[in-house]
Amino acid sequence: MRLVFASNNAHKLDEVRAMMPAGIEVLSLRDIGFEQEIEETGTTLEENSGIKAEAVYHWILDNGHWTIDGVFADDTGLEIDALGGKPGVYTARWYLQLDNGDWKLDNGQLSEREIFAANRAKALRELEGKEDRGAQFRTVITLIGGRKNATEGHNTLQVEGVVRGRIATEEYGEGGFGYDPVFIPEGYDKTFGELPAEVKNGISHRARALQALVESLKV
Ligand code: IMP
Repeated sequence: MRLVFASNNAHKLDEVRAMMPAGIEVLSLRDIGFEQEIEETGTTLEENSGIKAEAVYHWILDNGHWTIDGVFADDTGLEIDALGGKPGVYTARWYLQLDNGDWKLDNGQLSEREIFAANRAKALRELEGKEDRGAQFRTVITLIGGRKNATEGHNTLQVEGVVRGRIATEEYGEGGFGYDPVFIPEGYDKTFGELPAEVKNGISHRARALQALVESLKV
């Protein structure tokens, strides 16, 4: 079986390929020559992962790649209990949200590292003095496939993976990326930034969503 993962993120591709059972080949967007920007205009993780999978799926059909069995795409959000599940679908650029809820324009001047740091600072600020620090990472994966010729329909499936935890009161550790130095997974007293990558990769939202995807492929 050949599936396209709608991403060019080398770290994610490695993770996905390591988890796929033998017999399932995973191609990246670069591998198939897909070079378009996909605008993530959805207001939920479900919508955005669907938008990405649909865009690539239709491109594959338009370009006659009939040897590909399906496409899957992921979208992840940090959902903080005391903030009613925010930042959710806006996790990647949360630092751009002002205290009154409006959004600053992205001037594109920050590096990825600086964006991650600004996001973590925002999380710590938003929860300052709050006792309820419960939070979760949630990944939604959409898989589209099944069509073998121009008249057959296709199937869409969504699975999710969640890791519960809490937001620390300050940053700990330098490992991982994004919010890892401020997220303490349930059952541990260290952040994802301090825990070894093997531990994080065994229990993470993405790993759990991928496990659910792999399970669904066995049926
Ligand atoms: P994406 O949908 O995988 O691009 O994730 C959206 C955003 O969620 C990223 O830009 C990060 O800020 C955050 N994020 C996703 N996965 C993780 C993780 O494993 N650790 C920490 N932050 C993450």
